[in-house]
Amino acid sequence: MEKLIRKNIFALKPYSCARDEFKGEASVFLDANENPLNAPYNRYPDPLQWKVKQKISKIKGVAPERIMLGNGSDEPIDLIYRIFCEPKEDNVVAIAPSYGMYGVCADINNVEYRTVLLNDDFSLDADKLLEATDKNTKVIWLCSPNNPSGNLLNRNEIKKVLNGFSGIVVIDEAYVDFSSEESWLQELDNFPRLIVLQTFSKAWGLASVRCGMAFASEEIIGFFNKVKYPYNVNILTQNLVSEELDKEERKKEWVRMILNERDVLTKNLTSLNIVEKVYPSDANFVLAKVNNANAVYNFLVEKGIIVRNRHTVQLCGNCLRITIGTKEENETLIQTLQLFK
Ligand SMILES: *Cc1c(COP(=O)(O)O)cnc(C)c1O
Repeated sequence: MEKLIRKNIFALKPYSCARDEFKGEASVFLDANENPLNAPYNRYPDPLQWKVKQKISKIKGVAPERIMLGNGSDEPIDLIYRIFCEPKEDNVVAIAPSYGMYGVCADINNVEYRTVLLNDDFSLDADKLLEATDKNTKVIWLCSPNNPSGNLLNRNEIKKVLNGFSGIVVIDEAYVDFSSEESWLQELDNFPRLIVLQTFSKAWGLASVRCGMAFASEEIIGFFNKVKYPYNVNILTQNLVSEELDKEERKKEWVRMILNERDVLTKNLTSLNIVEKVYPSDANFVLAKVNNANAVYNFLVEKGIIVRNRHTVQLCGNCLRITIGTKEENETLIQTLQLFK
């Protein structure tokens, strides 16, 4: 692991906050220059969010010490560059097309971003991915179910990547709740350099609250904790996420509703003349190939319906990415598309 971590990060002495020095029960806190009034917002929040992590741990079956919480998944994505990748020296390899933030954070951190095209049906070729790595490749980015294609990556191909690469492998599981396959969380013990990302932004319905999760070995999580801002998850988010975690049944019901709607929308889209193909999805969106994506997109915008135009993305020519909405929203979309000439 030492070889994978940037030298300055390995040697980093992290910021020590007042509550790190004193741990235990006390009634008078005069150590952090807080205002004594306006409880509970006057106090700095728990930097390691133990209360929330304990609840996540129960649901996910991963020890709290192996969880990092961030300001959305975007925070751990950026931290992975800052922990492992020496700017202008190291590189990362990612599948394409995939989530845009991996590339943006590579650019921000001045790290070379290498992409390997998925097959035409968006399936993964592990050998091709591994061929793109070299001795300076620190991280491989995988996303399953993938965005914008919606498909799961084949488990055996992912295993090949994990077994064939000596650096960090990230599997972004933002859409795992909608998928028909198991999460990779249960494999963390078998692959000590695996990082799994999940989020509260999709199935849990909490995109505005900004909370993402990284799961990895205790050692890797230790480096996340060293590098992140000390109070990266505020108390409003910690409290709300904690409350929402008690409503797992409701989340499961939402997922069932969305999956049912996904089937209906897929069928209705497929029956339209302008739709050439709807790609199979394991997520809460579908990728649809239409006869003229720009024209259809602009027509929908005029009618007040916004979908994501992916026409310019590799392998996604004339494709629109459509999020599954409520029954009514999906019906409005189909009725509107029926008017397109
Ligand atoms: C939506 C999405 C996320 C979630 O990002 P947050 O910062 O947690 O909101 C992460 N990865 C992928 C691939 C996504 O599509």
